[in-house]
Amino acid sequence: MSKLQPARGTRDIFGVEARHMTAVVDTFKRVATSYGFEELATPIFEFTEVYKRPLGEASDIVSKEMYTFEDRGGEELTLRPEFTAGVCRAFISNGMQQNTPCRLMSHGPAFRYERPQKGRYRQFHQINAELLGQADPEADVDMIAMAWRILKDLDIAGNVVLHLNTLGDKESRDAYRAALVTYLEGFKDKLSEDSLRRLETNPLRILDSKDEGDREIIAGAPLLSECLNEVSQKFFETVKKGIAAAGVPFVHDERLVRGMDYYTHTAFEFVTDALGAQGTVLAGGRYDGLIEQLGGPATPGIGWAGGIERLAMLSEKGVAPAAATILMPMGEAATLKAIELAEVLRDAGANVMSDRSGNLKKRMNRADKSGAAFAIIIGDTELEAGVAAVKSLSTGEQTDVPFGELAEHVTR
Ligand code: ATP
Ligand code: MG
Repeated sequence: MSKLQPARGTRDIFGVEARHMTAVVDTFKRVATSYGFEELATPIFEFTEVYKRPLGEASDIVSKEMYTFEDRGGEELTLRPEFTAGVCRAFISNGMQQNTPCRLMSHGPAFRYERPQKGRYRQFHQINAELLGQADPEADVDMIAMAWRILKDLDIAGNVVLHLNTLGDKESRDAYRAALVTYLEGFKDKLSEDSLRRLETNPLRILDSKDEGDREIIAGAPLLSECLNEVSQKFFETVKKGIAAAGVPFVHDERLVRGMDYYTHTAFEFVTDALGAQGTVLAGGRYDGLIEQLGGPATPGIGWAGGIERLAMLSEKGVAPAAATILMPMGEAATLKAIELAEVLRDAGANVMSDRSGNLKKRMNRADKSGAAFAIIIGDTELEAGVAAVKSLSTGEQTDVPFGELAEHVTR
């Protein structure tokens, strides 16, 4: 064990960062609820097959990032590396096809064996939304508009650009794959090792390569838009018009592909340049074949996931702790009274803590540092008079307030 540190790529989350992250989740839940979403919590581990099949053996996640283990009963299990496959498994397991469209929101930790750096961890956290059972392009628009509203509510929309692309339907993608392979085979001696392997397993994924040599080659590759059939073109046109109508600015990014096998038609990423190489804060797309592939009834789907750590790093929301009231009883009798008053104040909705240690000056210093709103001092004199000395820590003003009026005073 290395000096009681958390395992590499994992972190303890507390203080300001915890508050920022909670603000992201709260905003997500509030906005998604306004779009008709309901909560779904799936287990943190699933049978490995749930991820392996839909994500594809050649995907980064399956080939090198999953935390897979055999449990004591000999089951092959994997810690959730992403939400979509588990949500679709839950859709099938619970017969949700009886009630489509299903709008499902989830959040929580995800696990990937990656090289840790700022904004990239082995345990990280996602907000996730899936809309199942709706095939029309307007569903894609809804999902993107919802993401945009969350970014606006977090005050980070100004730092983020929506990159939008279409991968087309299966026919279009097959045609493109053929064109891409023909082109890339001319560069077999220059491609990175990873990309060479992908040329056999999943050539589209090469477009996602972060290798610089690869990137130069990719710059000259044929474009997917040249291979789109009419259905796919029309679908994409409708999505673009809808997104514009919803007031979401975007750029058409012809090079955007997504890392997983299951995407069709719409693919998108909200990207910032404020976080270095970890620029994608929220990403998703349509995956019409996934549920069928998992063994369920043919059901179209579209979804996205946002990285809570990355969103929290950009947002100022949640910096200030909830304004608190600190009770400062002096002496035994006052301490008992303070216990009673604290409960009365909490009944009224106030956040209350008691500080019973050290002299008054020490307690005031601590209260000031904590960012609390009020200090309430109760000593023998106050007890006798039935009042407390209430000090506003923002103005420094101090007034005597009868016990019965304290709640009103600190929740104003
Ligand atoms: P990247 O290209 O940065 O590796 P990705 O395409 O693997 O991202 P997705 O699988 O689309 O990411 O996950 C959705 C979001 O989850 C990302 O946009 C990002 O904000 C966040 N995310 C993904 N992997 C990590 C990680 N290891 N640490 C922190 N956040 C992550
Ligand atoms: Mg990744």
